[in-house]
Amino acid sequence: MSIIFGLILIANPLIAALALLVILAILAIVGGFWQSSLPSGCLHDRTPLFMSLNPPPAFHVLAKPTGAICNLACRYCFYLKCEHLYPESRFRMSDEVLESYIRQYLGAQQAPEATIAWQGGEPTLMGLEFFRRSVELAERYKMPGMRVAYTIQTNGPRLTSEWCEFFRENNVLVGISIDGPRSLHDVFRVDRQGRG
Ligand code: SF4
Repeated sequence: MSIIFGLILIANPLIAALALLVILAILAIVGGFWQSSLPSGCLHDRTPLFMSLNPPPAFHVLAKPTGAICNLACRYCFYLKCEHLYPESRFRMSDEVLESYIRQYLGAQQAPEATIAWQGGEPTLMGLEFFRRSVELAERYKMPGMRVAYTIQTNGPRLTSEWCEFFRENNVLVGISIDGPRSLHDVFRVDRQGRG
């Protein structure tokens, strides 16, 4: 086929371009039929055809269980205003969504290790029980032999010794956002009352 295509290309570039368009259209139609034949709710039913044929062996997702909701109001924050994009939202990941997320996320991995990562807004606003539950669900749904790592990115003020104990018990990698020493940090990283 490539020889024929090469000969056509030499003979007439316009015909070659049209032939290429026809081939791409056929591939798109076949791919569309193939994807629409998948059962609804299937993990891959919205996956581009090329990814379905070559799924990544592992991938990483940062989940934001409170969306853009945060206890701080940093002056440079680009994210807080996203709250207004979802006027009906409670900005709290439900237990049902949490379970579906962890089951599907771990089930789709093809590597022996996966990382469950939380970010915000401020994820600790979900409360410690949410994260205890996420560990419980990960233990339930991880593949045999799979190692699950946990990470959280937080701005810090809500952390207590109880949180720290939970992090230690579950070997959670904790990232704390700071801008430097207090004199620098408090310039932009302020709470809702403007206090550093
Ligand atoms: S802590 Fe992060 S999400 Fe919260 S206001 Fe500051 S920059 Fe925005």
